[in-house]
This record gives sequence, C-alpha cells and structure tokens, in this order.
Amino acid sequence: MAKKIQSIKGFYDVAPERQKLWRYFEATVLSVLDQYHYQEIGLPIVESTDLFISGVGTQTDIVEKEMYSWIDPLNSDNLTLRPEGTAGCVRAVIEGSLTYNGPTKLFYRGPMFRHENVQKGRQRQFHQIGVEAFGLSDPSSDAEQILLLSRLWKALGLTNITLELNSIGDPADREAYRKVLITYFEDNKAELDEDAQRRLYDNPLRILDSKNPSMQDMLNSAPKLRESISAEARTHFDSLCQTLDNHGVPYILSDRLVRGLDYYNRTVYEWVTKDLGSQGTVAGGGRYDYLVEKLGGVTTPACGFAIGIERIILLLESKALDGLMNPDIYIVNLGDEARSKALMIAESLRDHHYNIAVNMEGASFKSQMKKADKSHANIAFIIGEDEVEKKCIQIKLLREEGSQVSVKDKDVLTHLTSMIN
Ligand code: ATP
Ligand code: MG
Repeated sequence: MAKKIQSIKGFYDVAPERQKLWRYFEATVLSVLDQYHYQEIGLPIVESTDLFISGVGTQTDIVEKEMYSWIDPLNSDNLTLRPEGTAGCVRAVIEGSLTYNGPTKLFYRGPMFRHENVQKGRQRQFHQIGVEAFGLSDPSSDAEQILLLSRLWKALGLTNITLELNSIGDPADREAYRKVLITYFEDNKAELDEDAQRRLYDNPLRILDSKNPSMQDMLNSAPKLRESISAEARTHFDSLCQTLDNHGVPYILSDRLVRGLDYYNRTVYEWVTKDLGSQGTVAGGGRYDYLVEKLGGVTTPACGFAIGIERIILLLESKALDGLMNPDIYIVNLGDEARSKALMIAESLRDHHYNIAVNMEGASFKSQMKKADKSHANIAFIIGEDEVEKKCIQIKLLREEGSQVSVKDKDVLTHLTSMIN
C-alpha cells in the first residue's frame, strides 16, 4: 500500500457534521451584518510581510513569533500568510480610496494563519469574520459594533459570553502610562517572571496580559491606565458606556485589558466565555484611529472587531442543535423504477424549496428506514414496485407510530403542504 499523506499539525478538515454548524453560524452572522448595513469585502490571503510588520506591530506575539513568512523564489518578494484581517482591510481601503465618498462599513471572512502552540481552540489555520468601520470617530459607532455582537450571540442562542471593556486612551496617555508602569514593575522586580523581565522595557503594557498565577496580585495592584487617560478619551469612553447602559448590554470594566495588538487606542474589548477552558476569548476588538495613517493613508478614525469562528463552533457543538440543516424529507426507494420516480418527485419538490435526501444506495427496506431516521428528517416517502404501478407513494411521519398514508402522485405537494401547516 502507498504511504498515507497526513494533514499538517494545526491545519484541519471540517467534517460534514460540523460543517452544518458552520453554515448555521454563517447564515446567522450574515443576516445580522445585513441588518447593520455592513458590506463584504474580499481580501487576499497573502500580503507583503511589511504590511503586518507596520500594521500589527513588531512587539506583538503575532509578528515576533507567529507569522508564516517566506521569500518568493521567483521574484524575491517577502510574503506572509495573513495572521489577521485588519491590516489587509486597511490596505485595501487606502488602495481603493474606499472612504472617498464618506464613512464605510465593511466586513471580511476567511482563514488566518498563526504558527502557535496547538491546543483546543488554538489552531494554526483558523477562521475569522471581522468587521471594520472607517471614518467614524463617534462612540456611537463603537457602541453599534458591540450591539451587533450582542445581537449575534442572542441569535445563535449563546448566553454564556461576557463583555470585558476598557479604554487605553490616546497614544500620549499610553506613553505617559508606560513610564509609570515601568517604575511600578521596577519596584516589584522580584515578582516578575522571565517573560515579564524580557518585556519590561519594550512593551510593559503586555505584562498586564500575563496569566501567570504568581504575578496576579502584583498585576492587580498596578496603576490603572483608564484612570489616567485624557479628558477627551474619558468623555468618549463614558459616552460608550452610557449607550451600552441605555441598551441594557452588560459589561465588566477590565483594568488590565490592553489587547495584544499595537494599533488600538481608546476602546478595547473582548467577549469571553468560561465554557472553553483557557481559550475563552471568542471575539476581540476596539478603536484604531491611527492605523490608516500609519499604513500610508490620510488620517481616518476607525473601529472594528474579529470573531474566532472555531471557538464559536465549539460552543454551538456543545448545545443540542438537532434539526439544524436536516432534510425535510427522506425518500426510501426499492428498485430501479422506484429510484427514477424518487428523483422525479425530489426535483419537483425542490422547485418548491423543500430539502430532500434520496437514498441512492439501494439497500434493503429496513436499512433505508434506519438511514431515514438517522438523517433527522421528519418525513419519509416510501416508494416500492407497488407504488410505481399504482401511481402513488407512502408518506410516513418518522416520529409518529401508525402515521403512514398512501397518497396519489398528483396530490403529493398538496398533502405535504397540509401536513406542514
Ligand atoms: P488569544 O489571546 O486567544 O491568543 P488573540 O488576542 O491573539 O487571542 P485576536 O488577534 O484578537 O486574538 O483574534 C480575534 C479572535 O480570533 C480571538 O478572540 C479568537 O477567538 C480567535 N483566534 C485567535 N487566534 C486563534 C487561533 N490560533 N486559533 C483559533 N482561534 C483564534
Ligand atoms: Mg494570540
């Protein structure tokens, strides 16, 4: 036998059963995005490495150690598989002058690539759907994105997701805070772990993100950035909180939330669940008023978020979602003539938007009925030689004993309509 070739660590297939959940998620999120008038933008998976170095920032986990980058042997271009979507979206907005006619609200979706430690909820190829609004500085646009997410969790029936919210102020606030924080950490140097010692002078804010249990007390007592931000940033944040209060969206003010990416200012947030162990963040976002300028465009305020789809699928999987994308009808058929009649009926009912599964294996009646049951369809049609001859079919409700009736071919659609209504 030939040698089996296996998939690459951290890169996964999506089995058909799970793909049903993906389609349910996508259908739901697309309809919510339509309600908020976001438009989809298609973006390439490969970009120049420089885009992420400038756009995501050199001091981030992503650029430091997670990117799949290579030199194209044919023309020496330095290329990277996108680790996130915002930088590429900003590039596209600048390149296509997409804010020329005013603010624009966009979303993108697809695979992202990060070379990180593989575990449940952490893959090397994973998928995001991301939303970005350009040209809007008012806190009501931060609020609207949070309302959108809150509506999405409701639509998906996910109740166990909490919003953690913070403001990291403007760049000058962060610069001043950096100094305060370095002094605080220097005073507590004995408690810093190796990672924190390394980051102390280039990115002290990131130390706040640490999950190391032995540092938690010291980190919780650190000076708080939100308490020293500028008056304008403060007003912006207060107004956002007020809007969320008006809409009854609960949130937790999270002093230590700074997010891993360098481009944020003012609003930052994460939606977290306790149901996924340590990979509990299902979406993250915030404001990034300086990124468009940093990537060569004209100054444009912006805010956005990204959802990690695999983590949402894990949450959906743990709920009972029977009935999701199941066929309405399963057609059992015995013999060649019954098969062609089954196909004929299936096609005509598909014209009326029914989802139909036709048995194609030609197994015994008993085994086909088992398959019908397993398909989770509510209704089975049964067609044998007799039914072909008498121009009728048997219709059976799969979850009701003694429900089988014989219906003339010409009456199938009317009968079906009366059954369903
Ligand atoms: P984490 O702290 O879990 O590493 P992150 O801050 O790196 O997340 P973002 O860059 O904000 O994540 O990406 C947004 C979302 O994408 C995350 O909240 C998460 O749901 C998802 N995500 C990020 N990295 C991965 C991954 N390697 N595998 C699966 N999902 C991921
Ligand atoms: Mg990460």
